[in-house]
Amino acid sequence: MIKVLDSFVADKIAAGEVIERPVSAVKELVENSIDAGAGSIIVEIRGGGKSYIRVTDDGCGISFDEAETAFLRHATSKISGITDLDNIVSLGFRGEALASISAVSRLTMVTRTAEEISGVKLVLHGGRVVSKERTGCNTGTTVIVEDLFYNTPARRKFMKTDARESSAIVELIQQYAVCYSGIRFMMINNGMTLFTTSGDGDTISVVRSLYPSLARNGLLPVENGNVKGFVSDPGSTMSTRKGQLFFVNGRLVSSAVIEKGLEEGYQGRVFSGFPAAVLFIEAEPCDIDVNIHPGKQEIRFLRQDEVKNDIAEAVSKAVMTGAGVPKGFVNIIESAPEKQFNFDIPKKEDTEQTSIREFLKSLESHDSHEEPEAAEIPEITEPDTVAEKEDVSYAPVSVPAPFDFADLTLKGYVFNTYIIMQGKDELYIFDQHAAHERIFYEKFMRGYNNSAHSPQPVLTAFTINVSNDVYSMSGDWLGDLIRMGYDIEDFGDCTFIVRGIPPYMSLDEAEGFARGFAEAAGEAGGSNKIVIDKLITKSCKSAVKAHDVLSEHEITGLMAELAKCGNPYSCPHGRPTFIKISSYDIERSFRRR
Ligand code: ADP
Ligand code: MG
Repeated sequence: MIKVLDSFVADKIAAGEVIERPVSAVKELVENSIDAGAGSIIVEIRGGGKSYIRVTDDGCGISFDEAETAFLRHATSKISGITDLDNIVSLGFRGEALASISAVSRLTMVTRTAEEISGVKLVLHGGRVVSKERTGCNTGTTVIVEDLFYNTPARRKFMKTDARESSAIVELIQQYAVCYSGIRFMMINNGMTLFTTSGDGDTISVVRSLYPSLARNGLLPVENGNVKGFVSDPGSTMSTRKGQLFFVNGRLVSSAVIEKGLEEGYQGRVFSGFPAAVLFIEAEPCDIDVNIHPGKQEIRFLRQDEVKNDIAEAVSKAVMTGAGVPKGFVNIIESAPEKQFNFDIPKKEDTEQTSIREFLKSLESHDSHEEPEAAEIPEITEPDTVAEKEDVSYAPVSVPAPFDFADLTLKGYVFNTYIIMQGKDELYIFDQHAAHERIFYEKFMRGYNNSAHSPQPVLTAFTINVSNDVYSMSGDWLGDLIRMGYDIEDFGDCTFIVRGIPPYMSLDEAEGFARGFAEAAGEAGGSNKIVIDKLITKSCKSAVKAHDVLSEHEITGLMAELAKCGNPYSCPHGRPTFIKISSYDIERSFRRR
């Protein structure tokens, strides 16, 4: 039953202009159709929605007697008292959308409930009823909005071009079609049908057909507690957030908290751009505030950290798997090789000890009794029960198994940098430098966070030279190095002497790191708490060097250390540590498929 809210409740609801543009009208009308239990929704627009908007549904309809009530401000069938406000489950609840839209347009509503044998056709101009008559029609509701803002010229000026307005509307309907894959959507623009969805509940096929670029590299299923959906692998990003759709309790929202959770879920694996994500989040209605913006698109969570962590956990379970390893560049393989590949693993060289070798040795010597406590590769929990799945509007997904290094065999070593490993159906190319940086970074963070940092004396003290400006601001960074476990002292003349190093570093690493840290702190203009993480990440680079030729034994050691990392997939700067090329892609490149 449609009731008019009493003024107390009405005032509790943020006031504001709901209808700013054609797309805001379409959003309200479509949400009404969804709330009415529609199985099919047709959206037709002309002239960017400025001249004509039609939304037709097969929902519950409105009875003859209540047709006019629906257009009164604060008339709604969805809430009645103040406690209801805390438990909003339907999309619309203010009871002002129809009132606002009809006030600024010529509106026609044709509607019928299943119980009545005839329907009603109601016409309003500028919010005033100009005619009401019985009419024959299907169960459900059609709302036609013509000449939006015809009576408010000021507002008309703020509308964009037809093309811009219609693209906003089409984008909106695409988003709703993804979220409500159980509803059949049809989008018609200037007489042309742009798309129709099946309404069979298969979310991923809606994503594939409406967002082909998102699904190009495959989407990884996310399924963890109250967070479900799909995300792209870390290598497939877009330059904007347009590929990120967040739905909370079926409501399309924008939320910095969700964005942050998504970002954290990738654990630094996104090198540039924004990953694509379609996330459905279920929250207790009492834990969210959907009322902070009249357009309702922004949402506030009462327990922000919990929500953020839930999302990060769900996303990281999806991307920290073999399926989340970025794909290699198949077109490189598509061109025929000029020279013969040399897959021989070089013999161990007895040239000078280089940094990476030193590092691997140091792992064998003193790291062995220091239990690694890096997080294990996240475990994948069983998908939720069928019963729980039934009430969500998308098809069940199968979550891929976590990536297992034990399945890999060493096949080659090229350009003194890349390690070729073979898995079951894939070839993996590891970047030894990126891998080394990741291992060093995690080892460093463990040492940094856990030990008391008493320096380990070095046999021969060494000195570090810095530039004048870095020297003059040593007060900003010297203390940090000492806290990390360095025995380091001003030696005059832009020089520092190091007599002891952190127990969790090799000599080479310690020297490179200290130099890198001092320079980075100089550039950053200090090393307060906020920048110290960045400084450490940056300095890891100085601690490791590329192009050390590794022996088979050393490669195996490097792989074993990488496997122990909490995030073996990327270096601290977000570059991938390894990429994959599937046997299918190789076969395709040779035109065997
Ligand atoms: P709200 O959605 O916030 O309740 P609206 O102004 O959008 O307010 O709609 C007012 C009322 O009109 C709704 O509560 C609902 O009862 C009825 N209504 C609107 N659109 C439809 C529709 N497409 N099908 C059935 N009922 C509708
Ligand atoms: Mg509504």
